[in-house]
Amino acid sequence: MPSRSRWLSLALVLSLFFYILLLSGFPLADALANLESQSELFGTVARNKKWVALGVMGLGLAFGAWVIWRRKWAYLVVGAVGMVFLAATYGVYKFQKTYPRAGLLNTERYEDSLSILLGRDAALSRFAPQDTLKVERRRIERAAFPVIDVHFHLESLRYDMTPDRLVAAMDAAGVQKVVHLGGDQPAFEHFAKKFRDKHPDRFILFVKPDPNALMRPNGVQEEVAWLRKAARMGAQGIKENKSFGMGQLDEQGRNVPIDDPRLDPYWSLAAQLRMPVLFHIGEPTSFWRPIDPTNERYPELLRHPEWSLDRKGVPTQSSLMAQREKLLARHPGTVFIGAHLGMNADDLAYAARLLDTYPNYFLDIAAVISDLGRQPYTARRFFIKYQDRILFGSDGGFGLSPSTDWTPERLFRSYFEFLETENEYTEYPLQSITRQGDWRVHGLGLPSEVLEKLYFRNAARLIPPSADVISRLDGLDPGS
Ligand SMILES: [Zn+2]
Repeated sequence: MPSRSRWLSLALVLSLFFYILLLSGFPLADALANLESQSELFGTVARNKKWVALGVMGLGLAFGAWVIWRRKWAYLVVGAVGMVFLAATYGVYKFQKTYPRAGLLNTERYEDSLSILLGRDAALSRFAPQDTLKVERRRIERAAFPVIDVHFHLESLRYDMTPDRLVAAMDAAGVQKVVHLGGDQPAFEHFAKKFRDKHPDRFILFVKPDPNALMRPNGVQEEVAWLRKAARMGAQGIKENKSFGMGQLDEQGRNVPIDDPRLDPYWSLAAQLRMPVLFHIGEPTSFWRPIDPTNERYPELLRHPEWSLDRKGVPTQSSLMAQREKLLARHPGTVFIGAHLGMNADDLAYAARLLDTYPNYFLDIAAVISDLGRQPYTARRFFIKYQDRILFGSDGGFGLSPSTDWTPERLFRSYFEFLETENEYTEYPLQSITRQGDWRVHGLGLPSEVLEKLYFRNAARLIPPSADVISRLDGLDPGS
């Protein structure tokens, strides 16, 4: 019947339209990328795209031949409709990959979407300039001194990074030890078994108290008990969470500031056991600014709008810094290491003032080379002046794999080249993945004695051997 098929085709076209509309609101490309890195099955499928596509096409052809042979025309129609939907899904996926968060459904950015659809934005979104500069750049295979990397995330490694493969990379680049920071229960036990027990002198474990402790009646006591237990299992330091001061709530639904006195038992225990506390506080300054083309980390924030702090009710950067100062002042006997240069890599004068004021404050350099490397003269003076207070950290883990562009060797070496050479106008570590600003960096060419402290001596001085921690613990609870 002609009118019935007319209605049917209309319904089909409409449902296709709504399907595309709905799908474009769903972060399809991100979800697939996640699956690819987290699941072994999807990873294998993604690496063998060509063969999977060939297989699917073969099946489709066989199905088509069968349909025609048996004259099952209804199946042919269903198959064709299925293909159209599949093609639409692929189209949306490709669009999201090319234009991350273009926001087809975002009415505020419809002008941007229109430009993209008209192809005007294509050149800029894909802008990836290859420099023509001819200047000598020195490669570094191994660090000048043995390295302790105080900021590493084993929990973020891809499934194909085995402990042996990671240790081989550390050997190749000259990294003696890596500090693992993802030590909340039960992850601590998992990584202790999988990595530390296999290579006892290559991995240092830091333990992480549950940030939600104050949401439970006896949470802090329970976490102190856990810190003690982890210390007996070999923990040599504490990692603290960045959620304090940034929306972390307690049992009554009130905000927990960084210097909340109810958390003092952690800091006192850390002082008694002389375990350093690696504390992530704050975020890059750009995250507090609007996501617009004037934001110097625009491409990064377009990919991750959820990182933006440009919302009502978010505490200011300066209020967080003030809370941190109170914490540092109240616990002079506790060693605090500010992760990511205390998130002050874009304001080294402020970082210097903190170091001058609080002798218990130290810094790691993880994931802030983008900021340090655009002020090489200032940064070099800073590293030389505070050579006893800065520790090497790579923030390694995320995106590292033996089978992609970013192997752990390459990550470590990119840090060493920045610190040891005067290489000009180079990429900063993980630039192609993190996109913390579209600029290049310049090496610091640090003197040997500074490198030795940065790579090794400062960390070796601050991180106690596990046996010392345990004997101090025995001293605290005689009879246990
Ligand atoms: Zn980190």
